[in-house]
Amino acid sequence: MSLDALYQQIILDHNKKRVGFGLNAGGFPSHQYNPTCGDEITLTVRLSDDGTTISGIEWEGKGCSISQASASLMVSEVVGMTIPEFEEFANGFREAMRSRGQIALGEEEFGDLAALSGVSKFVARVKCAMLAWVAAEDSLALTRESLN
Ligand code: ZN
Repeated sequence: MSLDALYQQIILDHNKKRVGFGLNAGGFPSHQYNPTCGDEITLTVRLSDDGTTISGIEWEGKGCSISQASASLMVSEVVGMTIPEFEEFANGFREAMRSRGQIALGEEEFGDLAALSGVSKFVARVKCAMLAWVAAEDSLALTRESLN
């Protein structure tokens, strides 16, 4: 199987698996909409009791396979990270997505998210891949405000 085919398979798998799918009440959900593709995601970040670590992420949404797979892959990789770790990780992901094919997502750092590397060559699809991440950053900011 070529790397492209493998990455395609990971995206299709996560589009079905949808890790973290299903919203519970409470918390600070963020709803994000991508008008260029019609993707929608509502996502809630949960923090540990001491407010330092991402203890869970729940989401619901619909849209293209890239938008849904990116949410599922993000949840698979970032739950358990501290907030600074997540911020650095999200910045690295965004930088790669905006690089127009110049920066690949290394598997060592990004795990199966590497499957989304190719998206950065297609400017119109970058918003699809970023949607869940924008929602996570927004929900995290709202959650942290509430702790202050
Ligand atoms: Zn899309």
